[in-house]
Amino acid sequence: MTAAVPAAAQGNLAAILPATAALHPDRPAVRLDDEELDFAALDELSARAAGYLRALGMAPGDRVALLLPNTPVFAVLYYGILRAGGIVVPMNPMLKAGEVEHCLKDAGATLLFTWHEGSREAAEGARRAGTRHLGVDPGPFTELLRGHEPAPFSTDRSAEDTAVILYTSGTTGQPKGAELTHTNVRRNIDEAVKVLRLGPDDVTFGGLPLFHSFGQVVGLNCAVAVGACLTLLPRFDPARALSVIAQDRVTVFLGVPTMYTLMLGLEDRARHDVSSLRVCVSGGSPLPVEVLNGFQAEFGCAVLEGYGLSESSPLACINRIDRARVPGTIGCPIDGVEMRVVDKEGKEVPDGEIGEIVIRGHNVMKGYWRRPEATATTVRDGWLHTGDLGTRDAAGDFRVVDRSKDVIIRGGFNVYPREVEEVLYQHPAVAEAAVIGVPHPTHGEEVAAAVVLRPGTGATPDDLRDFVRTQVAAFKYPRIVWTTDALPKGATGKILKRTIETPPHLLP
Ligand code: AMP
Repeated sequence: MTAAVPAAAQGNLAAILPATAALHPDRPAVRLDDEELDFAALDELSARAAGYLRALGMAPGDRVALLLPNTPVFAVLYYGILRAGGIVVPMNPMLKAGEVEHCLKDAGATLLFTWHEGSREAAEGARRAGTRHLGVDPGPFTELLRGHEPAPFSTDRSAEDTAVILYTSGTTGQPKGAELTHTNVRRNIDEAVKVLRLGPDDVTFGGLPLFHSFGQVVGLNCAVAVGACLTLLPRFDPARALSVIAQDRVTVFLGVPTMYTLMLGLEDRARHDVSSLRVCVSGGSPLPVEVLNGFQAEFGCAVLEGYGLSESSPLACINRIDRARVPGTIGCPIDGVEMRVVDKEGKEVPDGEIGEIVIRGHNVMKGYWRRPEATATTVRDGWLHTGDLGTRDAAGDFRVVDRSKDVIIRGGFNVYPREVEEVLYQHPAVAEAAVIGVPHPTHGEEVAAAVVLRPGTGATPDDLRDFVRTQVAAFKYPRIVWTTDALPKGATGKILKRTIETPPHLLP
């Protein structure tokens, strides 16, 4: 076990690790297949990683980028960097050279760690950015760390200093770095732990990427804070996920809607014993009500829908275990966080009316790294402007209607794609659906739907169009419908609507 954390470093996010290691040294912390680190080992290795980083010349406040898949070494380096006073810049391993270069340069990262030598894209990006690039070979890397003395906690950083920079596209433009402070993340951990009632007997499913706020804070950090085990899956696969849940007796499943859709769509889903599941959380994009109800019925476990952004550390609002949950709502804000629905002038709209969701509280980021203008546009008077449209009902539950930039304006009428998607999901042949706007000479935009069918079903585009037509106002149903094998998705499973291409022969 490593030495106690000095008082000046108690606010450091990484201080959660030695605290848990002292209480539960032998409990499993992170697991990937048959590789497992208990809390004592994770604490020791991250302390040695801090020593190693210092030996590499890393100084407090330096940005260190991680371009790693979900592996135990991610956790080792993450807490090691924080312990040494560094700022973690987690990045998506699928980024292309130009994107890697952009993030590294923007963050001014001095070091980049990749899995083995990393992709050619990563190496090229690091070369162009002039960032020192180090590959991690798990076995030799552990040996290398054992050759370094554990470093004490840096006392140069305060709890209000930046702990992580998360690159996100935000509402527009090139990825910007959302700066989360140690306090931002620690408060969010405390609230998530409370809402999900996490404890040392929990086993959390770690299939969400650790470079993203949801997997990193609600997955990794919450597990470490309470002494739960995080069982990792580097690449999501629904059959594999169900067998990991059964084998590791997973109690907490964290996922994006796509994961729920895929697991529900598996033909032999009933073969797996998932009775250990205690609570599931969905976030990151809208969970179709059909999928929510279907999953709860099939797998016998409550699904809480949560909402947040990288900029809100990420959790802002979530359904509660012991409170009536209206399907399609995201519940109410976590303690210490306020949420409002406002009009263009920033005035709160009456319950039930659509407006922009704004958030204020301990979870709102410090700002966008080195972008005071973007920060000033997004955070006004302490309110984070999310770019998401939503409503609040009389009971205080919120609902996300759509992202403001996804709204389709057809002939002057607003069409919220999500509403049309919800109807499509009710069709028995529909596995996934995305509704988008395509330019139209007279209407401005036309409503179009790309649909993935369930295997063995055979609805035609006309069937699907007619199905929606009978259930929504005439201006909303998709005039353009096509079926496709798959929808383009980002690393966190969000459907990338802007990259969906309408088949040219269907364009108006
Ligand atoms: P990110 O910064 O990658 O976490 O993305 C944040 C965005 O994901 C939000 O601004 C929303 O558009 C979307 N999002 C997150 N949770 C939900 C949810 N429960 N329902 C609908 N959209 C969501």
